[in-house]
Amino acid sequence: MAAYDTGTADRDTTGDRPDGGTGAGIDRGPDKDTEEAADGAARRHDAVRAAVEQGLVGPDTPLVGLLDIAGIRASAAALRAAFDAVTAPGTPVLHAFAVKATPLVPVLRLLHQEDIGMEVASPGELALARAAGVPPARTVLDSPAKTPAELREALGLGIAVNADNPQELARLDGLVRSATPLSPLGLRVNPQVGGGSIGALSTATATSKFGVALRDEGAREWVVRAYLDRPWLTRLHTHSGSQGMPLELMARGVAEAYGLAEEVNERAGRRQIDTLDIGGGLPVNFGSDAHTPAYGEYARLLAATVPGLFDGRYGLVTEFGRSLLAKHGIVLARVEYAKSAGGRAIAVTHAGVQVAARTVYAPRSWPLRVAAYDAEGRPKAGPDVVQDVAGPACFAGDLLAEGRSMPPLDQGDYAAALDTGAYYFAHHYGYNSLARPAVHGFGPDGAGGVHFAVVRTAQTLDEIVAESGGAHAESLTGAF
Ligand SMILES: *Cc1c(COP(=O)(O)O)cnc(C)c1O
Repeated sequence: MAAYDTGTADRDTTGDRPDGGTGAGIDRGPDKDTEEAADGAARRHDAVRAAVEQGLVGPDTPLVGLLDIAGIRASAAALRAAFDAVTAPGTPVLHAFAVKATPLVPVLRLLHQEDIGMEVASPGELALARAAGVPPARTVLDSPAKTPAELREALGLGIAVNADNPQELARLDGLVRSATPLSPLGLRVNPQVGGGSIGALSTATATSKFGVALRDEGAREWVVRAYLDRPWLTRLHTHSGSQGMPLELMARGVAEAYGLAEEVNERAGRRQIDTLDIGGGLPVNFGSDAHTPAYGEYARLLAATVPGLFDGRYGLVTEFGRSLLAKHGIVLARVEYAKSAGGRAIAVTHAGVQVAARTVYAPRSWPLRVAAYDAEGRPKAGPDVVQDVAGPACFAGDLLAEGRSMPPLDQGDYAAALDTGAYYFAHHYGYNSLARPAVHGFGPDGAGGVHFAVVRTAQTLDEIVAESGGAHAESLTGAF
């Protein structure tokens, strides 16, 4: 069985966990959920107030991203506890964070300290994981379009690689022939169990671009043979989730992969596949502060659907992204102007398509809660007004929320887009050359106040010019 490097730079993870291994946070009643939601909201209110007071946001810095460090740690602990509670003692489990959800080095470092590994899907993401000090043994490479150079680098480092398709497996054949791989190697399959409510995020449809489509004619037999012909192929990967997928469907996808692993091992006459990588994809609740569905719910559903997964015969890798970070981020934007048009109140803020591209372009799939704070950073009360919360970009559809009933936003107030810690402010979209905002982590300062730490500084105008060909100003006029 694969032995993961469970040591991290900052914590001895072989000893008792802070929760004493009791699985605290698993058997959560409604009270626990409400408490967690209330705590998160209280920390958010304090942080917004402090961000205004400390000048992190204001007339000259009208947009900032904030991350709740205690919340991130709590989610990491909840993930570990959820799987600990259903897994046979001693089973190697690597929870690899899908770096694409929040590709910020200090966040990766924090998660590493919380015993979370990294799932990377590009040379850039691998570079971020390495910059965060995450060792190769705790990193998994999964992208659908790896170049030969990327594969060679990953194998040279000993990073786990999941091949996406037969052509990529052929490339691995070539690399494995020239040197015995240090890397655990696997194959990604698409169980084709069907999609969820968001087509663009459904990875297990019949025609998804990811992995080997298991139900296509002849595919299953091809996969089994591929393993039997390659004794070094020891992992099996599937990721059937993401926002909009029902948990039952995700669990069914995992069950399909498990069944396939059992078949391969049976026909190999040995435990050739020693590790199942079950992907991520736990959806996020964008409707309230409650952290639902909880990791415990999914882990228990998996244990009920695929009991053999947790009996210790397989090492496990998970790849959760959004569910670890989304609830812990806020985009905080100043209301520059409050106006009205055609009877509609409109707050013109500094948060739009550049920080919330998905919401702006696909508002039905990606609605965000927007909380209103006054100019001092205190939560605003009603009576609610139907209004648009607009962004700063120069197209009419640049709206964070349309026709939303909420406390009126006035000039100088703040609009906070909630649940944006994953796939939002770290995914800048350079429309109108709007600058990437700074991101700060927050936590208690030990004296009843809030302490902020820089995660990323704001993009400067010089950087925008440089990244927009500033060094080549004469290249077109001079060359032709
Ligand atoms: C995006 C992705 C994930 C993470 O998905 P989330 O919905 O953010 O949990 C995990 N594995 C793979 C292969 C992915 O592409």
